[in-house]
Amino acid sequence: MKYLLPIMLLFTFSVPCFAVEGMFPLNDIHTLDLHQHGFEISADAIYNPDGISLIDGICKVNGCTGSFISDDGLILTNHHCAFRTVQMASTNGHDYITSGYVASNRTEEFPAAGYAVRITKWYRDVTADVLSAVTETMRMAERTRAIDKRRNEIITRVEHDYPGHRAEIAEMFIGKTYVLFVYIYLKDVRLVYAPPRSIGEFGGEIDNWMWPRHSGDFSLMRAYVAPDGTPADYAPTNVPYHPKTRLTIQPDGVNTGDLVFLIGYPGRTYRHQTSDFPAYEQEVRMPFVVDWYQWQIDMMNAMGQSDRTIALKHASRIKSLSNTMKNYRGKLKGINREHLIARRRKEEAALQKYIMDDANRAAQYGTVQTELADIYSNVRTHTDRTMILHYLNKNVTLLNIAYTLYEAAVERQKPDVERKADYTERNFGQTKQKLEQSLHDFYQPTDQQIFNALIAKATTLLPDQHIAPIDSIMEAYPSIDEFLDTIYHNTTLTNADTVRTLFIKTPEQLTQCSDPFVQLARHLYPLYAAIDNESKSRKGATDQLYAKLYDVKAEFLKQKFIPDANGTLRLTFGQINGYSPNDAVWCQPITTVTGILEKDTGQEPFNSPSRLLDLIHEKKFGKYVQPKLSSVPCCILYDTDTTGGNSGSPVFNAHGELVGLNFDRTYEATINDYAWSENYSRSIGVDIRYILWILDEYEDVDYLLTEMGVN
Ligand code: ASP
Repeated sequence: MKYLLPIMLLFTFSVPCFAVEGMFPLNDIHTLDLHQHGFEISADAIYNPDGISLIDGICKVNGCTGSFISDDGLILTNHHCAFRTVQMASTNGHDYITSGYVASNRTEEFPAAGYAVRITKWYRDVTADVLSAVTETMRMAERTRAIDKRRNEIITRVEHDYPGHRAEIAEMFIGKTYVLFVYIYLKDVRLVYAPPRSIGEFGGEIDNWMWPRHSGDFSLMRAYVAPDGTPADYAPTNVPYHPKTRLTIQPDGVNTGDLVFLIGYPGRTYRHQTSDFPAYEQEVRMPFVVDWYQWQIDMMNAMGQSDRTIALKHASRIKSLSNTMKNYRGKLKGINREHLIARRRKEEAALQKYIMDDANRAAQYGTVQTELADIYSNVRTHTDRTMILHYLNKNVTLLNIAYTLYEAAVERQKPDVERKADYTERNFGQTKQKLEQSLHDFYQPTDQQIFNALIAKATTLLPDQHIAPIDSIMEAYPSIDEFLDTIYHNTTLTNADTVRTLFIKTPEQLTQCSDPFVQLARHLYPLYAAIDNESKSRKGATDQLYAKLYDVKAEFLKQKFIPDANGTLRLTFGQINGYSPNDAVWCQPITTVTGILEKDTGQEPFNSPSRLLDLIHEKKFGKYVQPKLSSVPCCILYDTDTTGGNSGSPVFNAHGELVGLNFDRTYEATINDYAWSENYSRSIGVDIRYILWILDEYEDVDYLLTEMGVN
């Protein structure tokens, strides 16, 4: 056994590719020597704005990534990305979360309300245009507003010129560079297939963010368009979308040491922020969120324990809270383990020395780092109050509805380009739809308990942090419960028709509205507006400071940086590679379905369907068996650079063929968001052979395999 590590190292060094940090914007890949890294296809075959390339077969599915795997708009993405639709389709009599969903023909494909698919069409730098909106004399909040307004103007103009498309302007380097992305935007998306939860999420929260893994975290959706091929809202007469290209599936999969690359839409990373940011996250924000989410999860689980209808209402929320909570726990642990903050402070001290060593540099950049530190330390003085207000609006469904109605009324008095994004003409329909969907999951006892807990938290704030409208409630009512019983009894916001009629009111009309939630929202509005103004002012200041910091850092390190993830299209590459999470432990990078037998207990979340267990026991592996492993490969591990939003990203081999589906990272890799490292950064995907084996041997959905071109 003691020879194992040297052998593995030898193996690792014998392949041409090595892992590098980087979620590369697609136009940057032409500057990489892809061949030297082990790629067998050219940069043009991956990204070619003047022709057809791989990126035309990749899409964004809400906050996730997806791949077109047929000419008829069939999309491969994660089970957890489609989960909300599976939940919406489920009732106590038809519990598709438990049984899985199989559309046996196209008419059975279930409309995924609230889902949209985007395909990147082109993009270009618009920094000069965006920054021309600001002047030296502007105050900070004014500066942020001017930038936001100019961004909206550009977007409106482009969407007018390109009907059926969606434009977004992404900030690549804070306060410094802005890029306009234009997407084909498809609004009719349907669920085609989702495995039972006991396959799609095998191992549940115990295995989430963990390796070794045995989850079949995949699903199939389909994009539809109007019969004339233009993007359209859902209609039964719509027809499947024909993408410019589809990805080629490689049923032979991959092996340890092989190069893999991913293309997708990673959400957010914070690698360019100064040490004060992760320190604030670690010491203040994440501990608050972890406690608060844990409390909500426990409460909702208890509510749904003996009633499946209630459990179904809570399913998506519990899943999403649990996912974030465990991610934060991983980060809290990892920040300490890697001494992340101390390391970053050391780098900052070296940079400061470089700045101060030269009088001109000192004059230009000398105070940048301390000014940023002051901003972060100011935020700490009122975090708890801000967080309580934030979660009152976010987690109390009826207050969120009332607040959105009131804010919509105020915002919609303004010209379109000056409104907050949710209330612009292009987004307002979605905002209304989201509220209606939240009523679908509304359960009064849960909502009331959440509200109660947040009021109780608010009463413990220091006197100078108090929330005045909550103080008034405490004075007017003998107890929190009495107040809550009264307002939940008197509200009519649980009725979707009422909500719809209130959406067209003016602020004056809402002032006359007798609904107690609307009245409370009206009284809270000035507090949220003040927070918003403060955050715009902070953004104006940090924008300017970070822009300077990049310049001097790039000069000091003689290096060009890769922009932080911001939900735009990126490429990352590495290899199928094991890792050592703990002393003396080495994890192999490929699991097999045989491991499902080892983990299965018959109890949730390790309760595989019995037919699946039978297939494994009987070794019915079909053509998907990997001879050396004598089993079907299940999940794969690789050292690429990913974050949330890369869920559903296609995993390609060196030839650009689809060999897996990204869905997670290891616990240690949750701190990727602050710092990537070859030692601990590992991402997790479903092996394509497991996906095909499930569809073929377990589900027997030949028609889908034929459509995917693998039958
Ligand atoms: N499972 C993850 C997510 O929730 C993917 C990741 O963060 O790597 O988005």
